[in-house]
Amino acid sequence: MISLFGKKPEPAPTVYTEQTCSSCGAVERRPFEQGDHVYKEQGVRCGKCGSNATIVTAIYGEYPPESDSKKKS
Ligand SMILES: [Zn+2]
Repeated sequence: MISLFGKKPEPAPTVYTEQTCSSCGAVERRPFEQGDHVYKEQGVRCGKCGSNATIVTAIYGEYPPESDSKKKS
């Protein structure tokens, strides 16, 4: 995990889990869930080929865009 915390408060990054289907190689990203770790065999069904051989291949955080002044609605 990254531990570069400064003194000023930072927005919490959104953590994503990247999962790869070991059958067809499709990569999907979803929000991180408790218990996720790299190389975890999830048994989650692949959206492309229907295999349930997806494993976690990466976990990373992304900071939200700083342009909070722009409203999207
Ligand atoms: Zn697949």
